[in-house]
Amino acid sequence: MKLYHKILQLLYPPKCVLCRKLLQPQETDLCTQCRADTPEVSGTKGKFPYLAKWTALWYYEGSVRGSILRYKFRGSRSYCKSYGRMLAMKLLQEDMEFDILSWVPISSRRKWRRGYDQVALIAQAAAKELNVSATPTLRKIRHNNPQSSQKDAAARRANVLGAYRVIDPEAIAGKRILLLDDVLTTGATLSESARTLLTAGAKEVNCATVAVAFHQRHNSR
Ligand SMILES: [Zn+2]
Repeated sequence: MKLYHKILQLLYPPKCVLCRKLLQPQETDLCTQCRADTPEVSGTKGKFPYLAKWTALWYYEGSVRGSILRYKFRGSRSYCKSYGRMLAMKLLQEDMEFDILSWVPISSRRKWRRGYDQVALIAQAAAKELNVSATPTLRKIRHNNPQSSQKDAAARRANVLGAYRVIDPEAIAGKRILLLDDVLTTGATLSESARTLLTAGAKEVNCATVAVAFHQRHNSR
């Protein structure tokens, strides 16, 4: 197994997930420069309906935006490990407590097209790092147009209303649920997911995302 990993490293040397520079042996996930220069999101400021707390790694801009677009649309599937690992660290730093670690699912049609559920992979990687399991709690029951194609916050809320269903209400009753997602924009998707879980009996819903698009949030709310 060790040799196998060494061969893999030679064939696919690890690169910084943000700037794609080859990593030095002492670096993991990010190069030293990106680690120093990329502004981190701190605290859990701002209010999103139905979410008790939220946190994110970075702001959705520059090299972070490039990284997430490569992950979602250009086949950089292996980024899920780095994102998951860093999100796990962030959850520990921010003292985000939860009973169930879960994620916002994509529709089966989108999953079929892309070949994978990009957020499920991040949740599984984060869960592995935290030594817990990632549990699906929601199912997307309606395929809607991408949130990015909606003209404003009201349209985004309407676009996801009733889009999710709780898989097993008994399993989430009275539980604190942490939902992971890739990008927090207006919060419409995460708020609707949280509302669905709370209505079905969850005690509290928090969320953590790879990035947060602040400027868009201010423009559209
Ligand atoms: Zn870098």
